[in-house]
Amino acid sequence: MARRAQPERTCVGCRGRAAKGVLIRVVRAPDGRVAVDPTGRSSGRGAYVHRSEECLRQAMRRGSLGRALKVSLGEAEVGRLVQELSNLVGEDA
Ligand SMILES: [Zn+2]
Repeated sequence: MARRAQPERTCVGCRGRAAKGVLIRVVRAPDGRVAVDPTGRSSGRGAYVHRSEECLRQAMRRGSLGRALKVSLGEAEVGRLVQELSNLVGEDA
């Protein structure tokens, strides 16, 4: 156990708060491309969401992900992000 609590972030899907390490970062790169950022270190504007497809889809539906990243996300991009996320979830859920 670390002595200091991890910084908390709010999931843009369910609005729940969780330690940064629990959430997955979605980042808008300087070139405008939106991608899941497994390292949490990519440069660009980031938003956090639980490692669950449901939270990601909720974030898309509410438009909160697009708002957080200041980008408009099309259906194709949403599908790609869900796919990227589910690849990650498969790794260490
Ligand atoms: Zn969530």
